Amino acid sequence: MEKDCLFCKIANKEIPTDFLYEDDMLVVFRDINPQSPVHLLIVPKKHIRSINDLTEEDKIIVGEMAMLGKEMAKREGIDQSGYKLLFNVENGGGQMIFHLHQHLVGGWEGDAKW
Ligand code: AMP
Ligand code: ZN
Repeated sequence: MEKDCLFCKIANKEIPTDFLYEDDMLVVFRDINPQSPVHLLIVPKKHIRSINDLTEEDKIIVGEMAMLGKEMAKREGIDQSGYKLLFNVENGGGQMIFHLHQHLVGGWEGDAKW
């Protein structure tokens, strides 16, 4: 838990947020400013700043994030039409919240728009 980290506060339920999924390691909620018809955030409870800060022990977290991305795409009904799982990394990579998260985006009519 990192002081003043928005996603730590969300994961710890200090900021009430509707979770589509929760387990001991991860939470999933809808992006507040969706860039696509389906736009979810898959977020570890552990505070990790970005992909750059991953350690060996975090491998399991990233593996679970990918697996949950696949599962959430299925639940949202976009697994067959297709989707993207994205990590933005640091300022130049478009990261604005410095607590690791994976975007699940999809649901467009036809080709991907993002
Ligand atoms: P990134 O640019 O990869 O750091 O993405 C951060 C994402 O978090 C953006 O898509 C924001 O719209 C989203 N976001 C910011 N605050 C909230 C919030 N309170 N609840 C849900 N999503 C949020
Ligand atoms: Zn955090």
